[in-house]
Amino acid sequence: TMSCLTAIDAADTLGAFVHKTPDIALDQARAADARLKAGAAPDLCGIPLGIKDLFCTKGVPSQAASNILRGFRPEYESTVTTRLFDAGAVMLGKLNMDEFAMGSSNETSCYGNAVNPWKVDDRKLTPGGSSGGSAAAVAADLCLGATGTDTGGSIRQPAAFTGIVGIKPTYGRVSRWGVVAFASSLDQAGPMTKSVRDAAIFLAAMSGHDPKDSTSADLAVPDFEAALTGDIRGKKIGIPKEYRMDGMPAEIETLWHNGAEMLRDAGAEIVDISLPHTKYALPAYYVIAPAEASSNLARYDGVRYGHRATLSAGDGITEMYEKTRAEGFGPEVQRRIMVGTYVLSAGFYDAYYNRARKVRALIKRDFELAFANGVDAILTPATPSSAFGLGEMASADPVEMYLNDVFTVTVNLAGLPGVSVPVGLDAKGLPMGLQLIGRPWEEGDLLNHAYVLE
Ligand code: GLN
Repeated sequence: TMSCLTAIDAADTLGAFVHKTPDIALDQARAADARLKAGAAPDLCGIPLGIKDLFCTKGVPSQAASNILRGFRPEYESTVTTRLFDAGAVMLGKLNMDEFAMGSSNETSCYGNAVNPWKVDDRKLTPGGSSGGSAAAVAADLCLGATGTDTGGSIRQPAAFTGIVGIKPTYGRVSRWGVVAFASSLDQAGPMTKSVRDAAIFLAAMSGHDPKDSTSADLAVPDFEAALTGDIRGKKIGIPKEYRMDGMPAEIETLWHNGAEMLRDAGAEIVDISLPHTKYALPAYYVIAPAEASSNLARYDGVRYGHRATLSAGDGITEMYEKTRAEGFGPEVQRRIMVGTYVLSAGFYDAYYNRARKVRALIKRDFELAFANGVDAILTPATPSSAFGLGEMASADPVEMYLNDVFTVTVNLAGLPGVSVPVGLDAKGLPMGLQLIGRPWEEGDLLNHAYVLE
């Protein structure tokens, strides 16, 4: 814990931590020492972690990287952080992210962006998003692991951009209670770590039924670490042809091919599969996620949480809402609220929201059929490129940024577990990741496939 705290102070230029909690960390570390001396299981006991700013941590600023939550210190602790602390984990501080987890580059944060510790020449690169601070902190060894959340790729894409492991578990595996909501039917928290084994241990500690989240599944949490045997003989790995996008860089194609060969060498059977509705996933996601966000973000009204605008004489409640929300939300969040409100409006509900829901059901069905045909895991690239330069994609057209999520959003729409594993460097010397998608509730088996690729 001490050496992490020193490393964090020395790495301020990365912008990974937005709020440091050294006093809490040292108290927790001392308590963990005592527990270990008394014979507690090592697992997460005494392990220093970073916590994404989307998690409510009691008495500690929890702003979802938004100005609208400025000054918000929750009265309660999220279920995930409660479980981690109960297991003896140590919180070093809160980590940078895109505002309300909306973004793929960490550039929508009210704190300014986090920076990828990987560099090409002197160009500053994005660590990805929205869990960019988590990814940067783990990759730069500022902590041993970090919590992330993933609504459409926000664990897996930053993991790929920084050369670490990130898993989004099955929807319902991890409680969403106390995690600031973005799109409730898609959001899942998960670990971001240096290795697959760490991910298995960390995920087990986060998981499990929580009566405070009605979508959390009442299922026992298997021992994910015990599943890491490295034995995948006889497993069937699907390669979906629809993920072979036009204009995909040859390097990614090669990496994907090599990943499949590694799994084959370990005794798995590689089969071509089709997930025919893949091309509709991105548009469906960018209707459903904003729709849910517009509803979830209605609660930031200047009364209940954080920031309230300074009012002028004669301003009423409407002006208070308008001014507070105009000041508090950044441009990307405002865009999502407007899109979401539009697709849910009486005249357009059927044309957009209902259609997107139907597409979602078809995407889910594609995966169900593949698994019903005996496929154990699906291998795809994690991202369409390696990390890009900061400022490079923050252009006038937000759709360019959305295209980053092309390989990851299907997994959230279908509620499946997905893991991003670092598998090598591209010609620029930047890390690249592959994604494995698994059957629902089989995170152990999924991590075991990732273990073979690692
Ligand atoms: N980049 C996606 C978005 O902006 C995904 C974000 C996420 O998973 N939280 O919506």
